[in-house]
Amino acid sequence: MIQPATNQPAADTLLTVRGLKTYFPIRRGLFGRTVGYIRAVDGVSFTLGPGKTLGLVGESGCGKTTTGRTILRLIPATAGEVAFEGRDVFALAPEAMRRLREDMQIIFQDPYGSLNPRMTVGGIIGEPLRVHHRARGSDLADRVADLLRRVGLSPDCRNRYPHEFSGGQRQRIGVARALALEPKFIICDEPVSALDVSIQAQILNLLERLQAELGLAYLFIAHDLAVVSHISDHVAVMYLGRIVEQAPSDRLYANPLHPYTRCLMSAIPRSHPDEDRERIVPQGEVGSAANPPTGCPFHPRCPWALERCPREVPALVPASDDPGHMVACHLHT
Ligand code: SF4
Repeated sequence: MIQPATNQPAADTLLTVRGLKTYFPIRRGLFGRTVGYIRAVDGVSFTLGPGKTLGLVGESGCGKTTTGRTILRLIPATAGEVAFEGRDVFALAPEAMRRLREDMQIIFQDPYGSLNPRMTVGGIIGEPLRVHHRARGSDLADRVADLLRRVGLSPDCRNRYPHEFSGGQRQRIGVARALALEPKFIICDEPVSALDVSIQAQILNLLERLQAELGLAYLFIAHDLAVVSHISDHVAVMYLGRIVEQAPSDRLYANPLHPYTRCLMSAIPRSHPDEDRERIVPQGEVGSAANPPTGCPFHPRCPWALERCPREVPALVPASDDPGHMVACHLHT
């Protein structure tokens, strides 16, 4: 159970997600009758400590973005619990939720579409401060200038518009806006996926520096395992709405256990031509979250599927030789 708001949360836990499910109804016919559900998130659990980063990785449509938005209550949850500093996020009244949003922010994937093109950069970054009555007048201008400097932009940018900036600069503006209310936790939803590789490293370095300076915790969502493992303390791999493997980043990278993780890992370009790495290609297409496969959801694509795999759902359990390394696969139980 999630602790009531009056209890002190464990000092090393900022965010607890337990059994989270987000289903979207499939409606048909004249009266919009519900004929099924898309199980976008199907029983996700994890914890995140202050100042730490959990990477959430998987292919498009695996439910990682929906997980992030459900945690922030931008999408209603179907089931499960989310606690932030011991407070039950789904039970908060609107005013309490409004205050909590100051601590929980999001950076979006698309630095082109996520900034209002009709607002100046100063207006975009200062908006959260105005809406939450944190600053106005010259104080607001000073805070905006500080935020611009913090993300590596000149305060002189404040009167310009988003279209005048490059993709990397726009993402810096998105980061400055997310920092405006001095949050403790930021969901980074594919923040570098739309950027050139050379610019990706700059934004990742910026996020790492800000984390070190401000003690931020990140849920870092991406489809690229190389990007995620670079910035994360822990990594969780999602497939069809479920976490199939979770471990400290270095251990997951050195010893991926789940066949799906091994497929993702084998797709990372080699850093040296002599590096010996087998390319493992999963069979067929990603399954449908509206009609997921029975048993292990990865079984139709798995190169190592066992006879029991289409019948039995593997639980996410500690690996036998590494208790901090969780895996949902019959090969490891
Ligand atoms: Fe493959 Fe079976 Fe493991 Fe699923 S449980 S990943 S099908 S071996």
